[in-house]
Amino acid sequence: MPSSDVTVIRAADWVVAWDSDRADHVYLEGADVAWRGGALVQVGGRYQGPVTRELSGRGRMVMPGLVDIHAHTGDELLAKGLFDDIGSPGLWGQALYQFSTLLDADAEAVAACTELTLASLACSGVTTVVDIGGPWDGWLDRLAASGLRAYAAPSFRQARWDASSGHRLDYLWDVDGGRARFEAALRVVDDARAHPCGRLDALLAPAQVDTCDEALLRDAHAEARRRGIGLTIHAAQTMAEHEELMRRHGLTAPAWLDRIGVLDERVILGHAIFLDHHRWTRLRTASDLARLAERGTSVAHCPTTFARSGMTLESLGGYRRAGVNVGLGTDSYPFDMIAEMRDALVCARIAAGDVFDCGVGDVFRAATVAGARALGRDDIGRLAAGARADLVVVDLEHPAMGPVHDPLRSLVLTAGERAVRDVFVDGAHVVADGRMLAFDRAEAAARVAAGQRRAVAHLASATGAHGDATIDHIAPRCLALGGPR
Ligand SMILES: [Zn+2]
Repeated sequence: MPSSDVTVIRAADWVVAWDSDRADHVYLEGADVAWRGGALVQVGGRYQGPVTRELSGRGRMVMPGLVDIHAHTGDELLAKGLFDDIGSPGLWGQALYQFSTLLDADAEAVAACTELTLASLACSGVTTVVDIGGPWDGWLDRLAASGLRAYAAPSFRQARWDASSGHRLDYLWDVDGGRARFEAALRVVDDARAHPCGRLDALLAPAQVDTCDEALLRDAHAEARRRGIGLTIHAAQTMAEHEELMRRHGLTAPAWLDRIGVLDERVILGHAIFLDHHRWTRLRTASDLARLAERGTSVAHCPTTFARSGMTLESLGGYRRAGVNVGLGTDSYPFDMIAEMRDALVCARIAAGDVFDCGVGDVFRAATVAGARALGRDDIGRLAAGARADLVVVDLEHPAMGPVHDPLRSLVLTAGERAVRDVFVDGAHVVADGRMLAFDRAEAAARVAAGQRRAVAHLASATGAHGDATIDHIAPRCLALGGPR
């Protein structure tokens, strides 16, 4: 957008505006939203200044773009449909360690997955994404080309998991190799922050709390502090990891990170489910939530992926009441931030056994301002003059939305991404009439499907723990194939 051009969405039926006195989102009816270049100049009332482009707000809700603080665009899609019904019984039913590591994505598959994932996120109203993974050649350029605001979080670790036994998690350490990957990640972080598109930033991303040693975590945190950026790490994400940390240190993940000085307001913990109060841990303390709140550490809550494995945070409302900043992420597929909000609400109420644990407004705050706060920002996740023009236009007349007594409830609980019409980032159109402009979603989907076929064929020919087992043996389809027996 030329910096002097003014766009106005005129008289939107509903606008989700930021009320600085309340420090909260509020509904406005029949209100204008105007931006100049990439920044909002007016939210509410009627914009009286000269206008370059005028869009009708009739039958529309304008809301802030969603902030996804935990996604893996690179290869998660390749596992779709394969490992959703299986897991390792000896590892709390998780498929992560024994199965998710079986598929190798080639370079073309990674590029295709990234495009399809970014398109899916944009079409569900995401305007900012934290992308953990990689790094690979062309990654930053893909992120930039998407039109989204993106935090590249190139991950690195010193240990790989070995769960080939099916009942035990072992760690194959390569301390020096992990150090080299850390150095490489620092270069990618600096490249992202210097990218000419102006929409890229970065986080340091030691991959998991159980796969990096203390010295590396301390050094990564120091580099994040030196650059003034955040750090994200998977922590308290499974019971297998929890038990490993208890065995190594006698501490939960947050307690250990706190002890080594890597727990503060610049840190986002991926998932943070198995804290000491979680019933599965059977610990006799309940101090982790207070520790996270005191340190100002944020949590990236990704309910959908974990609910698929039969586990969830206990509970979103409980974390919020303890003063913990919880943002939302999409982690793996379906890469639908509105579905993630709905699952966050449902999981919270089931985990707490209480319909009052949290409401639609709470999950919407988690998906907007809480994510922004986790990234240290007050200029995204809200619609207010001076904030970035990152916004979503929802079609109130979509049949799945009606009747629209409360538009966010209709969107989150019923219509989902189907009602997302237009998405703007820095004032520029990224999704128009439900279609991602930068990438062809259907074409990317076809390339991902081809990539999955290659990965499955490669698995069938690979040797190792599963010998020559095919995917049909490892992960049978949910129904048997019909026809003659
Ligand atoms: Zn993750």
